[in-house]
Amino acid sequence: MKVTYDSVTSEYLYPLSKSDITSIRDLVSQDIWARIRSIRFGCNTKTTQEGRVVQHGRFYDIRINLCLNNFRSTLLSDKLSYINQISHFGGVVDTNKHIVSWRLNDAKRYSLFLLLHEIGHILFSANFTSSRRGLDSEEQWCDNYAVERLKQFKDLCKTLDS
Ligand SMILES: [Zn+2]
Repeated sequence: MKVTYDSVTSEYLYPLSKSDITSIRDLVSQDIWARIRSIRFGCNTKTTQEGRVVQHGRFYDIRINLCLNNFRSTLLSDKLSYINQISHFGGVVDTNKHIVSWRLNDAKRYSLFLLLHEIGHILFSANFTSSRRGLDSEEQWCDNYAVERLKQFKDLCKTLDS
């Protein structure tokens, strides 16, 4: 699997390092992990989506759009569910300026959540046919999957906190 970062100017920072990503390997089944062809990180200043997964045959490319500028990221939507989720992960939302302020470790956890949510889509499509479940419930299922995996992840959180 290839992990890449879009090049950004020096004031931007990606919350997750390559070793942070390696450390979540054990949370994901090997079969699913083997089907992730690439994870690419980009900035969220010019997007409407923080996470995306695209299938190419048996393999998947994941894209996560979240980068920090002076520990702040762009608020992509005024939707309450989105704002609540960011607040839940510790992001401090300024709806007027469309800015979220982060502590680095909270931004790391939120980035992991976004990544695990996209991995959830891979698992979902491997386990359920789309006709059996609507899109809303797929999104909910992926959120639940990501939250459950993060809960199992206390060891990494400790590492991240240190
Ligand atoms: Zn999704």
